[in-house]
Amino acid sequence: MKQGEIKVETIRTIRELRRKLAPHRQSGRSIGFMPTLGYMHEGHLSLIRRARKENDIAVISIFVNPLQFGPNEDFDRYPRDMERDLRLAQEAGVDFAFVPDVREMYPEPVKTTVKVSGITDRLCGASRPGHFEGVATVVLKLLLIVGPDRAYFGMKDAQQVAVIEQMVKDLNVPVAIVPCPTLRESDGLAMSSRNVYLSPEERRQAVVLNQALQEAAAAAAAGRTDAGYLRSLVAGRIAAAPLADPEYVEVLSYPSLEPLEGRAQPGTRIIIAVAVRFGKTRLIDNTILEIR
Ligand code: AMP
Repeated sequence: MKQGEIKVETIRTIRELRRKLAPHRQSGRSIGFMPTLGYMHEGHLSLIRRARKENDIAVISIFVNPLQFGPNEDFDRYPRDMERDLRLAQEAGVDFAFVPDVREMYPEPVKTTVKVSGITDRLCGASRPGHFEGVATVVLKLLLIVGPDRAYFGMKDAQQVAVIEQMVKDLNVPVAIVPCPTLRESDGLAMSSRNVYLSPEERRQAVVLNQALQEAAAAAAAGRTDAGYLRSLVAGRIAAAPLADPEYVEVLSYPSLEPLEGRAQPGTRIIIAVAVRFGKTRLIDNTILEIR
């Protein structure tokens, strides 16, 4: 099926989506799936294009999942623009957009949730209690609803990728998880739906996240792989931006997300991850390094 020939089909119910996908699955077509909260940017679109390229059928979901937002977080004001999202999805070649409302996904309060232990203790798991339980639960529900061969996730949310990969492994979910690289603005800021919240001055200073991570990556490549050193390098660089209010700066093993003692061992992977507030806006970014 060629891009542009098909109008994206917008489906609101689980029953209808299953009914539409069944014949494709039965005739052996591969299904690629990408879950989103919507308010698409190029980062989302890069994942959709990849799902489009690698599968016969491309499915996205657009669902702002209340279960993954804390009581004082931005669920109510999370940016939404369904019409634009569907147009962009269509341009990127999506076949089916699943856009359930909260009642369709959670007709009654859930009594069953998915908790991935260990990996969710640190980083965003520590600062957003319950967040990854909400993410893992909705992603498992979506995987069971869509039944994709492959599901695409961005490394911008590296902890999310680690959590989903662990869940899929532990629960034998028959899907291949495909991690995709972080897309950035031309000045290096990781693309995010939340970037629209930034004032012009906050937006200017937000480049410090990527700059700090790049400096640390260069230091590690030059042999400075001591976790404490890398952490203070990044923290110091971020502290120099007056509007930046860091929530965490951590250097951990990846994907197990365990603290590192001293120098990272050759042949291992480490993640340097940051969460920084600019006013009310919380931004995250990370870099993953292969230690030689
Ligand atoms: P979200 O709508 O924020 O839940 O994002 C949907 C998917 O897009 C997730 O797998 C994200 O990791 C991914 N994503 C978000 N921002 C980016 C980006 N800048 N580059 C690549 N993928 C991204």
